[in-house]
This record gives sequence, structure tokens and C-alpha cells, in this order.
Amino acid sequence: MSYPELHMTIDGEPIPVGHRRAHTVLNPATGAALGALPLADAADLDRALAVAQRGFRLWRDAPPQQRAAVLAGAARLLKERQEEIAHIATLEEGKTRAEARVEVMMNVTLFEFYAGECHRLYGRQLVRPAGLRSTVICEPVGPVAAFAPWNFPIGNPGRKLGAPICAGCSVILKAAEEAPASALAVLRCLLDAGLPKEVGQAVFGVPDEVSRHLLASPIIRKLSFTGSTAVGKHLMKLAAEDCKRTTMELGGHGAVLVFDDADVEQVLNAMLASKFRNAGQVCVAPTRFIVQEGVYERFRNGFAERAGAWRVGNGLDEGVQMGPMANPRRPEAMERFIGAAVTAGARLHTGGRRLGSQGYFYAPTVLSEIPLTAAVMNEEPFGPVALINPFRTEEEMIAEANRLPYGLAAYAWTNQAGRQMRLAREIETGMLCINTTVLGGPDAPFGGVKWSGHGSENGPEGVMSCMVVKAVHEG
Ligand code: NAD
Repeated sequence: MSYPELHMTIDGEPIPVGHRRAHTVLNPATGAALGALPLADAADLDRALAVAQRGFRLWRDAPPQQRAAVLAGAARLLKERQEEIAHIATLEEGKTRAEARVEVMMNVTLFEFYAGECHRLYGRQLVRPAGLRSTVICEPVGPVAAFAPWNFPIGNPGRKLGAPICAGCSVILKAAEEAPASALAVLRCLLDAGLPKEVGQAVFGVPDEVSRHLLASPIIRKLSFTGSTAVGKHLMKLAAEDCKRTTMELGGHGAVLVFDDADVEQVLNAMLASKFRNAGQVCVAPTRFIVQEGVYERFRNGFAERAGAWRVGNGLDEGVQMGPMANPRRPEAMERFIGAAVTAGARLHTGGRRLGSQGYFYAPTVLSEIPLTAAVMNEEPFGPVALINPFRTEEEMIAEANRLPYGLAAYAWTNQAGRQMRLAREIETGMLCINTTVLGGPDAPFGGVKWSGHGSENGPEGVMSCMVVKAVHEG
């Protein structure tokens, strides 16, 4: 299987590099060039905007059966093309083939769910005296500008496209320049399933140029962004200039509370896979392990032993558990974070170094007894590092979980029913897993609180975030 020719998709037309600037897409396992990606200029973006405006008028009036048929059809095509799309994602992002296949299936189940939701975009009628009628109508918000990052090169574009299409919006997707072919493959499935060419488009470019240009246009009525908190804050300010609605899925610093009554073996089995998935480049990754004293040493030593044996290699190879990091910025960031933590007094149990002589590999790393002032305890590391510290009481553990301004995903391991209820109430997070790592599904809202953003993707909430309400009062 080869890597496809890269292009943008504007008004259904594949736009090649031509005279435009280009970005070289790299294979993170080898550092080799995969292809040249065209970067949009202002004229490309203006054309995409005009098309999106037409697309919105067309799609908001499309019957639910038509929208549902597109989403269900795209789900079928994704399944048929699963191997090809997973291969592309591994080539350009580095994750293992098994993970990339799961990502295709994430989109399949999400599109199937949204296909059903097309028929359930209800409003409501209010109780009024005879002769009066008041109705609350839900309407699609308008053309959406959606910016998706590279870490889930298939899943993120699927979320960004699926919800607006279900709601009756048009969408201009700017997926990450690092992993464009995966996003194009997802859009292709939708177009091949009958999505009008004006409704779903894909542009690439210099991110700040594209977002400034699109968000400056009154045509765009909603911004949907997944990425870092810093960039998210910047984009929210741009969106505020035109009072655009926003869905922001930003960074996290996943707290994991492991209590004395937990089954340590079970927790280790679940948490290692979760920690090292996609080389830790996951916004909901477990990061700060807040472990009660009674099981602390056993947990830390067990974690380090297993992490040291984790199989790292090219994601295309059979048996590999963790691929490279997605781009050269990530191992550099790991070196900075881990070096500073060790200098500050943290204990390094395993890892803490790059692997191999090519590509962007970094070893699964375990640190313990890390000072809370170390940068890695306060900023999202977005890499294969587990931070393990001991705590005495439940109150101290909850306080540590809530110490940071992030609140995306948190995990807790305990068999005490009363404590489970207290945690569900006290942990400041958008998503909480108790005794599991299965973090929702197509029907569950996915999103954060505080600096992890606002609004949800997936679930009915994901569709409603692409709609506005209108109250109509008739006499
Ligand atoms: P970054 O913040 O520069 O970029 C993150 C994503 O945002 C990329 O896809 C990028 O193309 C996009 N982006 C950047 N500036 C933009 C702009 N002005 N307008 C529109 N899009 C823009 O950082 P990075 O080096 O690519 O990733 C590093 C950090 O980003 C990580 O440490 C992590 O905190 C965060 N991140 C979060 C997620 C997530 O799922 N929440 C995903 C990827 C990256």
C-alpha cells in the first residue's frame, strides 16, 4: 500500500500544490518524506468560504433521511477501507496499526450514531393558553471552521465533520498538516457516500494564517478546535471578535487516583496500555498517578518494570506496542520536561532517553517523587511519561487531582462505593472513569472543563453544539 498524492478539497475539486507553498509530510518512524502538501493562499480560503456559504443553504434544508444516508454510507465505506486508511495513519502519525484500525472504527460507530441522530433533532412546544403558540426550534448554526490536530488523524477529522453534517451545517476542515492524508480519506468516504461537494471541504495551510482568515469571515458561524490550551485561548479571542460559537477540546493532565483497596495488578494492566497508547500523545492520557501509600511501592515498581519491557518500534511492524512520537517537537519536549524534573529531584526508574538513530522515538518513562513545582507536573507532557507520587488520605488525593487548571479526563481505582460517589462529585473534570479506562463512546459527551475547554463532541451534545435555538411565539 502506498501513500496517496496530497491535495486540498475545495468545492469537490482536488487542489494540488501547483504554484502554492508546500509542506513536506514526514514519516515519524524514519524521518523520510512522504509527500508534498499544498498550503492554502487567501484566494483558496475565500473560495472555500463562498462554497461553504452555498453549502450551508443547501444542507440545512436537506431532509434527515439524506443526511443520515450520507453518514451511514460513509460508515460502510470506512469499514471497507479500514486497512488502507489505518495504513496511511500509521505512515504519517506513527501509531501502531492496531490503534489506527481502532480509530477507523471510532469513526464508523460515531457516523452510525450520528446517522440516527439526524432523525432526532427535536425542538419543543411550550404550554400556552388557547390562541397562542410558542415553539422552540433548533436550527443549524451555519458554516463551521474546524481545526483538527495530528494525534488522532482519523478520529479527530471524523468528529469535526460528523457533528456539523448531522446538524445540517457545512464545514471547512483544516486538519493537521502533519497527517493530511488520513483526514482526506475520511472526507472522501463522506463525499463518496453522497455528501454534496459544497458541504464538506478540506484546506491546509500555515495554521495561524488559515485560522485568522477563516475566523475573520462573517460566513463562519462556529469554531471547533482540538489542540493545546495556548492555541485554544488565542482562537477563542479571534472567534470573540465576531461572537462566533465555539467548541474547544484543549489540553489535559489526566489524574489517576489509585487507592489502597484497588487490585494493583488490574490497575497496572489497564493503565500501562492507556498510558503508552499513541506514545502518550492523547489528550485524555493518564498522566499524574496519585497513589495511596499502602500500594505505592508495589504500584510504582510494577509500572516501571512493565514500562521497561514495553515493545517500541515502527507502528507497521507486528507485535509493536508503541510507535514513534509524531513529530520532532515531541521528543525534544520530553527531553526538556524529564531533564528538568530529574534536576529538580525526581527519581527516574526507566526510560528518560530517545531510542534508535532515526525517527522520533522516545522510551516509555517512569518518574516518581516529582516535586510539584516541576514543569511536567503542571504542563501537559503529551508523551510516554508516567508521573507517580505517594499520598496519604483521600482528601489529599482529591486536592492533588484538582490542583491544576486542567479538567479533561480523570481516572480512579477503588472498590468502596461511598468513595466512588464522593469522587464522582468532587473531581473537577469533564470525564471520569472509575475502575475502567473505557472513556465513553459515540453516544457519550467528550469534552473538558476549566482550561481543558468547553462544549462537547460526540453524543447528542456534539450535534447540539452545532445548532442554535430560536423561540417562535405566535398569537
Ligand atoms: P500546537 O499547539 O502548535 O498545535 C496543536 C494543533 O493545533 C496542531 O494540529 C496545529 O496544526 C494546530 N494549530 C496550531 N496553531 C494553530 C492556529 N493558530 N490555528 C489553527 N490551528 C492551529 O502544538 P503541537 O506541537 O502540534 O502539539 C503540542 C501540544 O498540543 C501538545 O503538548 C498538546 O498539549 C497539544 N495537543 C493537544 C491535542 C488534543 O487532543 N487536545 C492534540 C494535539 C496537540
